[in-house]
Amino acid sequence: ENKKLTFTETIDLRNKYIGKSCELFYKKSPLKIVRGQAQYLYDQDGREYLDCINNVAHVGHCHPDVVRAGVEQMQQLNTNSRFLHDNLVVCAEKIVSKMPEPLSVCFFVNSGSEANDLALRLARQHTGNTDVITLDHAYHGHLTSLIDISPYKLNLPNAPKKPDHVHIAPVPDVYRGKIRADDHPDEDMGKLYALEVKKIIDQNVIEQRGQKVCAFIAESLQSCGGQIILPHNYLRDVYKYVREAGGVCIADEVQVGFGRSGTHYWAFQLDGVDVVPDIVTVGKPMGNGHPVAAVITTEAVARSFEDTGIQYFNTYGGNPVSCAIAISVMNVVDDELMMENAKDVGEYLLSELENMQRKFPDVIGDVRGVGLFVGIELIKDPKTKTPATAETREIVDRMKTEERILVSSDGPDVNVVKLKPPMVFTRADADRFLKSFKTMIADIRTQRFQLL
Ligand code: PMP
Repeated sequence: ENKKLTFTETIDLRNKYIGKSCELFYKKSPLKIVRGQAQYLYDQDGREYLDCINNVAHVGHCHPDVVRAGVEQMQQLNTNSRFLHDNLVVCAEKIVSKMPEPLSVCFFVNSGSEANDLALRLARQHTGNTDVITLDHAYHGHLTSLIDISPYKLNLPNAPKKPDHVHIAPVPDVYRGKIRADDHPDEDMGKLYALEVKKIIDQNVIEQRGQKVCAFIAESLQSCGGQIILPHNYLRDVYKYVREAGGVCIADEVQVGFGRSGTHYWAFQLDGVDVVPDIVTVGKPMGNGHPVAAVITTEAVARSFEDTGIQYFNTYGGNPVSCAIAISVMNVVDDELMMENAKDVGEYLLSELENMQRKFPDVIGDVRGVGLFVGIELIKDPKTKTPATAETREIVDRMKTEERILVSSDGPDVNVVKLKPPMVFTRADADRFLKSFKTMIADIRTQRFQLL
């Protein structure tokens, strides 16, 4: 058995052997988590934390069905996908049953990054083009090909330069983005923002490079970059413009797929059942923490890839253990009515937060969410919308230290409190968060008065 290390020994070994770019949560006083169950995490001293951020532990940490599925398959066999195995085909059939037509062909990989990289390869092969349109502040993965299309990383001071084949469209953030709902009270924000993508296509930047649009890629709800809910009609129009220009549409569902939105299994479906991408990438929640991910596409796109004659082989992608786990996760989502729970608790959380915003409009600038995907944007002043970055950090820290509630912050100004808990999060959990959050928002207001 592994020997148990003291808290300090763990930190010392980490400092000695692990690359410093791998950052910890709560850098100043990190947590050592040794056990997880459902929506709770436990540290080395047995202290319990309410987990509001681990969307990867989709059906709850260490869900017994998922653990059993993995263990039983490990005892039986684990090998690559060059042998016939039921788990691979059953898993594919199950995912496809959740997809709208004509998305029906699966490729199994090991991470969201691998899925997005393969999606780009498929898109290039199918269209014969190279240029990619991505959203500002987006993150699509850590591979070289994906850092190139991830302004979340490209916008940092020492980041690599944006390559010429990448074009960045404004994020359709109706609160703080380029076009704001405040300034366009009666307009269709989705359509206005979609026109920004059309502008990139029409401006001939791509044509002058002797190129054409290969793909548009976006998360169907933008998590990295501040929990942005895409306005209605945005994806519908963008997908139309991109296809008219000869490109394909990639929906990155790595964070938000598998029912998090509460009403739809995939978040792109929020814009209407007829809004269908050409390629979908899924990951994180798919394995409830086990590394498994996939690309789902149309027969036409898959055929273009096949026509290259180059075989696709991925050593671990689609192995029987990963597939057993993914099948189990999808069964649990269905059997335990987790989407219904996400809808119910999500709506409750959102309406309570909206009440709080009405009470504290000088601190809470915006509340947005769908299902168990919620963002609360904190500001210093409703007129200027100046981001309350330091106060947001303080809330995240106080939540952990005083209340043992884990939340995170995000957004270009790091002033958005982010909630994306396991799907087993209850109304009682929501109440626990809301009560603490309200106290802290009231404290911020009191502190500000004292400063005046
Ligand atoms: N896409 C999105 C939207 C993500 O949030 C992430 C991970 N944060 C990735 C892709 C990359 O996934 P992975 O870390 O599994 O490679």
